Amino acid sequence: MSENEENNHKNFIEEIVEQDLAQGKNEGVIQTRFPPEPNGYLHIGHAKSICLNFGLALEYGGKTNLRFDDTNPVTEDVEYVESIKNDIRWLGFDWEDREFYASDYFEKLYEYAVQLVKDGKAYVDDSPLEEIRRMRGVPTEPGEESPYRDRSVEENLDLLERMREGEFPEGARVLRAKIDMASPNMQLRDPVMYRILHKEHHRTGDAWCIYPTYDWAHGQSDAIEGITHSICTLEFEVHRPLYDWFLDQIGTFDASVLQPRPRQIEFARLNLSYTVMSKRKLLELVEGDFVSGWDDPRLPTILGMRRRGYTASGIRNFAERVGVAKRDNVIDLSFLEYCIREDLNKTAPRVMGVLDPVKLIITNYPEGQREDLSIENNPEDPASGSRSVPFSRELYIEQDDFMEDPPKKYFRLGPGGEVRLKGAYIITCTDFKKDPDTGKITEIYATYDPHTKSGEDTSGKKVKGTIHWVSLPHALPVEVRLYDRLFTDPDPAGHKDQDFKRFLNPESLNVIEKAYVEPSLKQAKPLENFQFMRKGYYCLDPDSTEDRLIFNQTVTLRDTWAKIQQK
Ligand code: ATP
Ligand code: MG
Repeated sequence: MSENEENNHKNFIEEIVEQDLAQGKNEGVIQTRFPPEPNGYLHIGHAKSICLNFGLALEYGGKTNLRFDDTNPVTEDVEYVESIKNDIRWLGFDWEDREFYASDYFEKLYEYAVQLVKDGKAYVDDSPLEEIRRMRGVPTEPGEESPYRDRSVEENLDLLERMREGEFPEGARVLRAKIDMASPNMQLRDPVMYRILHKEHHRTGDAWCIYPTYDWAHGQSDAIEGITHSICTLEFEVHRPLYDWFLDQIGTFDASVLQPRPRQIEFARLNLSYTVMSKRKLLELVEGDFVSGWDDPRLPTILGMRRRGYTASGIRNFAERVGVAKRDNVIDLSFLEYCIREDLNKTAPRVMGVLDPVKLIITNYPEGQREDLSIENNPEDPASGSRSVPFSRELYIEQDDFMEDPPKKYFRLGPGGEVRLKGAYIITCTDFKKDPDTGKITEIYATYDPHTKSGEDTSGKKVKGTIHWVSLPHALPVEVRLYDRLFTDPDPAGHKDQDFKRFLNPESLNVIEKAYVEPSLKQAKPLENFQFMRKGYYCLDPDSTEDRLIFNQTVTLRDTWAKIQQK
């Protein structure tokens, strides 16, 4: 499929939005929101949701709010608020001045609750939570009504007020909506609206000791903000009748919540193979030191992917191309890697780095001579120009670019064989030295043909192979971190009786203490992306210091994984 065809195909959410616009709903306004709970760091699944919400608004001339759904003071923290904002900005989206918090609406929600009590549509229940849970029953049979369900309006109002005043201990009472204990939809069996929590909130401090449940806060927050299309993941489909019920009741005394009436649309959450995405599991990995932190390059967090060298445009492209589904599915991790690779191919400058070095001596090249060769930065991007790379008599090349006894189709170097050194000369291998104990090649000797200089070659010689190299006296020693997938199982969290950590890949990090790269990389900036020619994409780790440069492998050059799977 060409990119154009792909773009012309509308997903089902775009179709809904276009229908609404065509019917003149909401006076042609599109307003979406991204509603994170500030209780953890964002991951690739959130990135999908961010791209979807902001992308739709951009496509149809609308706006997107950032709203923190901060209804649970126990798990939430300002640290997360800041990191979420940074991540969204990094992804390339802007909520302008529309940064909202569910906690902004605590007073309003309370007023609504009071009115529902007055209308006989909510009541204070003194039953312990376990009892409430038990009495809700199972979907196939009606639940039991609470003995407190028919309290008088006066008593309910009095108790609710005293709950707010802090008169009762945690767990003593809750406020419940009075809907239908026999409903086949469990969400409608008198859901809890407020619970008592004597906890400081990161924004409202100690102003409140009762907090709205997510279900009570979410739909109203959307309505208050004038959200037209409230996009969420599939698990909220069964909550939709409840959200509608709340707005219908509130609409009888505050018509403003009915225009625009938020339209909830559910889509399947993004799942990636070889990955865990739940915040709880990610937290377990971080707190158990299975990874180095929230920004470990092996994690699917935005912080981690960013440190790995993934680009925002590559991630946005991935989000666009996986589309939106109505049923749960799993996207292959290699597709994400493919999107990143494709993006980097267009933008990352090519450089030379030797990860597993062996010394190559060009015996007929003058000792002490240095040439500065001009090598293009990116053949995919002519505007990127070229840089100067030093060449000399002694070089490093990759161990596996030499074979003592090469098979027929080996186009690299072997005794008597010829190869081009990238951007430099054609060389002929004349000899080599081997460690008798290990069998390892320790030195390779060659001669060069001065008439074969790249760009000025007058020799008419043809060789099949080109290899990369770095000049030994000018080479920059660096640390290189190679990454493999974090789990060995495609669905690490999908095994009922086995902990997902059992499937951690012991080989997911492989550190090369000393690799050699060309000296131009001395100027690399943190997180700057490069292609190490023939090796893959790498970026400079932000923990690098002047004396110790660290490069993170971002993705390999080719999709080796797909090949392995086909075997
Ligand atoms: P939890 O782990 O507590 O369920 P969450 O991942 O749902 O948390 P939220 O902060 O509630 O985290 O998510 C913010 C938004 O991101 C929600 O609208 C949610 O639907 C969406 N989202 C979360 N995970 C995914 C995912 N894997 N794919 C697509 N959207 C997601
Ligand atoms: Mg959630």
